[in-house]
Amino acid sequence: MTCSTGVVVIGGGQAGLAAGYHLRRLGIEHVVLDAQVAPGGAWQHTWDSLHLFSPAAYSSLPGRLMPAQPGQTYPDAQHVVEYLADYEKRYELPVQRGVWVDAVHRDGPCLRVESDAGDWRARAVISATGTWTRPFIPAIPGRREFSGRQLHTVQYKSPVEFAGQRVLVVGGGNSGAQIAADLASVADLSWVTQRPPRYLADDIDGRVLFYAATVRRRALDAGRTDTGGVASLGDIVAVPPVRAARDAGLLPATPMFRRLTTTGVEWVDGTRAEADAIIWCTGFRPALAHFAALRLRGTRGHIATEGTRAVGEPRLHLLGYGDWTGPASATLIGVGRTSRDAAREIAGLLG
Ligand code: FAD
Repeated sequence: MTCSTGVVVIGGGQAGLAAGYHLRRLGIEHVVLDAQVAPGGAWQHTWDSLHLFSPAAYSSLPGRLMPAQPGQTYPDAQHVVEYLADYEKRYELPVQRGVWVDAVHRDGPCLRVESDAGDWRARAVISATGTWTRPFIPAIPGRREFSGRQLHTVQYKSPVEFAGQRVLVVGGGNSGAQIAADLASVADLSWVTQRPPRYLADDIDGRVLFYAATVRRRALDAGRTDTGGVASLGDIVAVPPVRAARDAGLLPATPMFRRLTTTGVEWVDGTRAEADAIIWCTGFRPALAHFAALRLRGTRGHIATEGTRAVGEPRLHLLGYGDWTGPASATLIGVGRTSRDAAREIAGLLG
């Protein structure tokens, strides 16, 4: 049996496009299947005020620097969407849109990629499906009892709809801090975090994070002591709006509540607070359900990898998701290197 395609890339956000760029450079026939009807991956869906935590030049995919956004040191999400749309067009990447991949199966020498637009038999697969489609909310007692509005980061758009409301923002990471800062002056805000917020130094942005992730990976690969990477520096990049709200005293954090009630929350000391809305900024999980049949799932919903290659299936590579697929692979600047490595390995595999 022959495979109909060289490589199927699943997901056409930044990671899928970076993969397409390197596959094209190496002359490897491929197709990129993306569920979205428009370019830009998850950046199309973020909240209105989101800005990158690095300047444009440090947020670039391979081959093409992201142009600066006039008047903005840190570009906004729309600028990223435009950059990705231009990138895809400039390199004539073979992206098929509006295609949802349901499953991947082993099929002799091929991997069969099943989608709502038909099947592909590929010699190798790159998965770059991100995390945005798998929002995570922790199991907290009373979650179903609460009669107010509950939403996750992925549903938050702007503070306007929360004006004057009692809002709890849950989560001490970047999304939690940024959404709390967004709401601080318009809503009656409580920012709830599991431990006191850990801000990175004000002069640290994505450039330093990329460096820290790289140093950590190199240390681990060389069998040296774990440097702790980005997590050792803190959890929250003090982007200008977060810094401004924090410095104005608008971002005090409250320790996590014990349970939800019908009208709000109960704190650990037994006292209660009312809330109109709870915004869960509690992270994401990798979108890997399409690999269920391959039985590759390891701990914490990850697939064990060596570099970008799945340990249990040498024809499969993973890009993005988190540092576990390579240093800073889930960032604009970091995925350039991991996608290059994946494409080179696949070139070797395909001979
Ligand atoms: P995505 O952008 O999510 O793209 C994945 C694509 O795959 C999507 O189009 C999706 O629809 C599609 N897909 C998913 N499942 C399937 C399927 N089964 N079949 C077909 N298609 C599928 N990084 C930075 O470098 N700088 C920043 O400032 C920065 N800020 C961030 C802020 C927030 C709030 C978040 C959440 C992340 C941020 N990141 C940042 C991290 C990262 O750059 C983004 O998460 C980015 O969107 C990841 O790109 P991706 O291509 O891996 O995934």
